[in-house]
Amino acid sequence: MSRHTPDKTASAAYSARPTLKIDLGALKRNYMRLQDNVGRHVKVAASIKANAYGLGAERVGKTLYGAGCRNFFVATAGEGKILRNTIGDTASIYVLNGPAPRDISLYNGAELKPVINSFEQAQVWLSTTGEARRRPACALHIDTGMNRLGLTDEDIDRLSRNKKMLEQLVPMLIMSHLACAPDKTSSMNAAQLARFKKAAARFPVMPMSLANSPGIALGKPYHFQMVRAGLGLFAKDITNNADDNITENTVSLMAPVLQTRVVKKGESLGYNAAYIAPHPMTIAIVGAGYADGIPVTASSSHNALGGFARMQGKHVPIIGRVSMDLTMLNITDLRRPPQLGDWAEFAGRDLLSFAKASGTIPYEILTRLGSRSRRDYFSSDGPPRKPNKIGRS
Ligand SMILES: *Cc1c(COP(=O)(O)O)cnc(C)c1O
Repeated sequence: MSRHTPDKTASAAYSARPTLKIDLGALKRNYMRLQDNVGRHVKVAASIKANAYGLGAERVGKTLYGAGCRNFFVATAGEGKILRNTIGDTASIYVLNGPAPRDISLYNGAELKPVINSFEQAQVWLSTTGEARRRPACALHIDTGMNRLGLTDEDIDRLSRNKKMLEQLVPMLIMSHLACAPDKTSSMNAAQLARFKKAAARFPVMPMSLANSPGIALGKPYHFQMVRAGLGLFAKDITNNADDNITENTVSLMAPVLQTRVVKKGESLGYNAAYIAPHPMTIAIVGAGYADGIPVTASSSHNALGGFARMQGKHVPIIGRVSMDLTMLNITDLRRPPQLGDWAEFAGRDLLSFAKASGTIPYEILTRLGSRSRRDYFSSDGPPRKPNKIGRS
């Protein structure tokens, strides 16, 4: 893995294609930090659905496997198959959305474990998988208040009384999902914890798993035997409480400057003439737009601020409407004029504020980045380690 060095020759032979810079070193550090936080008796599983939140399931899966991760969650069986081909046979891969008749061959072929979210899904799984002894184990998902997927109280009654069905299902994990984990003060957290314990007592199944990555910060009672980290593997600001955010951002969308121009006071910019220059300004047109994951909701008009990129260490506001392949930035305040091919950086360390300025959440920004970008995986060194005094000669 090469060390990241800034590309000083960008303007000499630049590309018009955006690049997604993905720091696998930071990803690995994030995994280790979460593992340190929960302690060695709790497993940190990786939730890497949606192509690993847009970063690329294969490189992310391999990196996490290399960091010691042996439990993975994806959303669909197709995602599970890709991951299985990448990481080999020795890890568990759970499919969160649960089994459906047309996906069963994928479960069998790639040894995927379905998450059973309803009594009906349990029936589908049993009626389509044939002989019990060849059936992969499954997980039971209890709904504890989200009213999204998960066994309802009625499902729990029916299933816990049906010993034969339970025996055939071979559940090997029991889980639920928190609705308000980033907010420590929410009473939902304790309420869901209590419901989870009560429901889990009806099924003699271990391990138990409740917390997603923000849920880890809620403390020991929420960890059980396994936590399921997603966003915390890739990003810093995962809870509302800055002190609890122990991970770092891993992804930047880099868009090259294709043209700069000076616009006069009163001129309009871009589609719908959404922005009228209130004074003369210098703008840069960069080669990435909403097709690359910069949301249209990051657009600005002359009476509403939008999102921003970072150039020369400074925020440069998005001007006018974000186009499919292009975005305009106000670079009037930059110290030196950018050269063609210089990069404007989106998201990166500004992921949370960029998402907020765009009226959305970091999860959506990440999963939409980079369908067209070149992916540049690198590995940063990270902050210096504390000196290890033990074992020094
Ligand atoms: C996506 C997901 C996770 C991971 O959540 P993060 O907030 O990204 O850590 C965990 N569990 C379930 C059921 C999920 O759907």
